[in-house]
Amino acid sequence: MTSYDDTDPVIFPAGAATGTSAAEAATDTWDAVVVGGGMAGSIVAEQLGRAGYKVVVLEAGPGKDLDLAEYESYLSRFYGAVVKDNQSPYPFNPNARMPRSTDTMPVRPDTPRDAFYLVQKDKYCTDTTFTRVLGGTSMHWEGKALRMLPEDFDLRTKYGQGLNWPLSYDDLEPYYRQAEAELGVAADVEDQKYLGMHFPKGYVFPMHRMPPSYLDQTVARGVDGMRVNLADNDYTLRVRSFPQARNGVPNAAYDGGKGFVPVGAVSTSQAEEGERCQGNTNCVPICPVQAKYHAGKTLAKALGKGNVKIVTQAVASKVEIDEHDQRVTGITVKKYAALDSEQYETYTVKGTVYILCAHAIENARLMLASGMQRMSRSQLIGHNLMDHAYLLSWGLLPKPAGTMRGTSCTSGITDLRGGRFRRTQAGFGVDIHNDGWGWATGSPYTDLVELVDKRNLRGPELRRTLGNQISRQLLLAFMIDLLPERSNRVTVDERYKDALGNPKPVVSLKIPPYTMRGAAFARKLATDIFEKLGAEDRTRYDKDRYSAVEHEGHWYNIVGGNHLAGTHIMGTDPANSVVDHTQHSWDHENLYLVGPGSMPSIGTSNISLTMAALAFRSAAHIVRHLRAAKAPAVVRGPQANG
Ligand SMILES: Cc1cc2nc3c(=O)[nH]c(=O)nc-3n(C[C@H](O)[C@H](O)[C@H](O)COP(=O)(O)OP(=O)(O)OC[C@H]3O[C@@H](n4cnc5c(N)ncnc54)[C@H](O)[C@@H]3O)c2cc1C
Ligand code: SF4
Repeated sequence: MTSYDDTDPVIFPAGAATGTSAAEAATDTWDAVVVGGGMAGSIVAEQLGRAGYKVVVLEAGPGKDLDLAEYESYLSRFYGAVVKDNQSPYPFNPNARMPRSTDTMPVRPDTPRDAFYLVQKDKYCTDTTFTRVLGGTSMHWEGKALRMLPEDFDLRTKYGQGLNWPLSYDDLEPYYRQAEAELGVAADVEDQKYLGMHFPKGYVFPMHRMPPSYLDQTVARGVDGMRVNLADNDYTLRVRSFPQARNGVPNAAYDGGKGFVPVGAVSTSQAEEGERCQGNTNCVPICPVQAKYHAGKTLAKALGKGNVKIVTQAVASKVEIDEHDQRVTGITVKKYAALDSEQYETYTVKGTVYILCAHAIENARLMLASGMQRMSRSQLIGHNLMDHAYLLSWGLLPKPAGTMRGTSCTSGITDLRGGRFRRTQAGFGVDIHNDGWGWATGSPYTDLVELVDKRNLRGPELRRTLGNQISRQLLLAFMIDLLPERSNRVTVDERYKDALGNPKPVVSLKIPPYTMRGAAFARKLATDIFEKLGAEDRTRYDKDRYSAVEHEGHWYNIVGGNHLAGTHIMGTDPANSVVDHTQHSWDHENLYLVGPGSMPSIGTSNISLTMAALAFRSAAHIVRHLRAAKAPAVVRGPQANG
C-alpha cells in the first residue's frame, strides 16, 4: 500500500487524481467547492484540506491522472509539434478552450465565429494566454517569482495614479514567505533589497539564487553603473538576479537552520527527477524534468492527505444563486466524456463555501455567464482587466555570449520598477532573455529556415553559422505597468460560444498613453544599452501587426504579458470593488474569488507570487469562515435576573 506521509519520497502516485466522479461529487456535501486546479485553487484546497475540511476541486481541463506518464505525454506532444508556441504541449480541447498566441487576430463579422477562443474586435489585440489543464497555467509559466514593491500597494496616494490596495506590503509579507516556501523560490535576500523591499531579520529564501548566466554577465559589463535621468531624478542601473520558482541549491540556513527540501517531479522518487534545474532553457512552455514549480506539486500534497478530491473534465458553467439572500447554492458543471466529444452530463455540486480560482478571465466569464453582474453593487465584474505590456527589443552582440544556457531568464534590470517618475509614466522591469530572440522573431527556427533556404548552408557550415548567430542573440523584454482602466474588460456575448455552449470571453484591452510613455522610454533605453554593448540593434516594429500601437508618431508592438489580472478587484467597499481584502465577495456571503483577478494593480513584477501569497491569506480567512459556519448554534437559556 502507498503511504502518503511527509517522509515518503514517492508522491502523487498514479491514480491519485482520479478519485471522484462528478456524479459522486454531486451527491456529497462539501465544506468547500473550489473551481479550478491551478496555482490558486491548489493552494486554497491544500490549506483547507490540511485544516480538516472536505474539499472538492472542479477542473475544466483534462488531467485524468497527473502522474509522470501524463506529464510525459505533454512533453511528447511538445517535442513533436511543428509550431512550438507556449500551448503546444497541451491538447486541443474544444470543451475547455484556451487562447493560443498563434491564433491572435480580431474576430471580424466575416471570420468563422468558432475560430479562436478569445473574441477580440478591436484593432489592437492581445496575444496573451492561459492554460486549461489540471495544474493550470503553472504548467507552462516561466517561474519568475518577484515580490511587488511596497509602493505598488499605494500608487494612488503616492503618485496619483491607479488604485490603492486595501492592504499593504507589510500585511502581505508573512504570506509572501509562505508562498516562497510553497513555490520553492531560489533567491538571495541581499539581492532583493531594493526600492523599499524588506524582509524580516535573518530571513533567507528556501534556495540560493540561480547563478547569473554568461549572457547576464556580458550585459552587466555594459549596464552596471549606467545612469539615466527620468523626471529630474538620476537612476543608476545594475543587472540583478531574479527570484525563481525552480529548484536550485537549498539554503541550509532556511527556517532557522532546518534547511529546505526541494520538491521534484510528481509521482517519482524525489531523488530521481526534478530536484535541480538543469538550465536547458525550456521553461516555457514546459520544464522537461519538473524542476520548475507547477501546481501539481501542491495538488499532490492536497490529494495525498485524503480530504481533497478532484473532478476533472468538469467545466463550471453556472454559479447557482439563491435570489432571496444571494448566497451561492451550487456550481453547475458540464462533465464531458472526452476531449473529442461534445457529449456531456450536467451536475450541481454543493458546499458550504465556494471559491472561484479559474483565473482572471475565466472567473469573470463564469460570473457574467451566470448573470451575477446584476447583483453586483460595484458593477465591476470583468472590468479593469490588466496585463503587463511587453515591449521587446533585440540586438546581435559582437561576440558569442552563451545564449540558450540557463533558465529562460535569470536576471534583469529592476531600478526603474519604482520611483517618482511614476506620476507621469509607467515603471518597468527589464528581463534579459537567455532564450534568444524566440519570443520576438521565432528564432531558432526562423534562423534555421533563413540559413538553409536563403543562404543555402548545409552540414558543418550550417551548424557553425547557426551556433554563432544564436549565441550572440540578446533579447531585452521590458515588462511595463498597465494600470486598471474600467474600459479594459472581459464580457460575454451570446453570439460566441464554445463546443459545450458556454459563452467565450470577449476581451477588450487597450494600451493607454501612461503605459506607452513608459514604452517609449524603454525603447530609448534599449538602444542605449545596445550601443554600450556594441550590439547591432535588429529590432523592427510592424505597424500592420495586431499588436501595433502608435504613440507620438511612432509605432511599437506591444505583446501580451500573460499576467492577467483585475477582473474582480479588491477594495475597501462594495461600491468600488468586487471583493474585500480577503478576496471575499461583497455581494455573496459564501463566495470567494481567489486569483490575480482580485489584484487592483499589477505593478512591475510577474503576478503569481503575489497571487499565491493572497491565496494563502484568503485560505486562512476561509478556515475562520468555515469554523464559524460549522460552530454549533449557541443555545441561550432563560435569562437570569439580577
Ligand atoms: C507563458 C507564460 C509565462 C508566465 N510566466 C510567469 C512568470 O514567470 N511569473 C509569474 O509570476 N507568472 C507567470 N505567468 C502567469 C501565471 O502562470 C499565472 O498568473 C498563474 O498561473 C495563474 O494561476 P491561477 O491559479 O490563478 O490560474 P490558472 O493557473 O490558469 O488556473 C486556473 C485553473 O482553472 C481551470 N478552469 C478554467 N475555467 C474553468 C471552469 N469554467 N471550470 C473549472 N475549471 C476551470 C483551468 O483549467 C486551470 O486549471 C505566466 C503565464 C504564461 C502564460
Ligand atoms: S531551465 Fe530547464 S530544467 Fe530549469 S526550470 Fe527551465 S526547463 Fe526546467
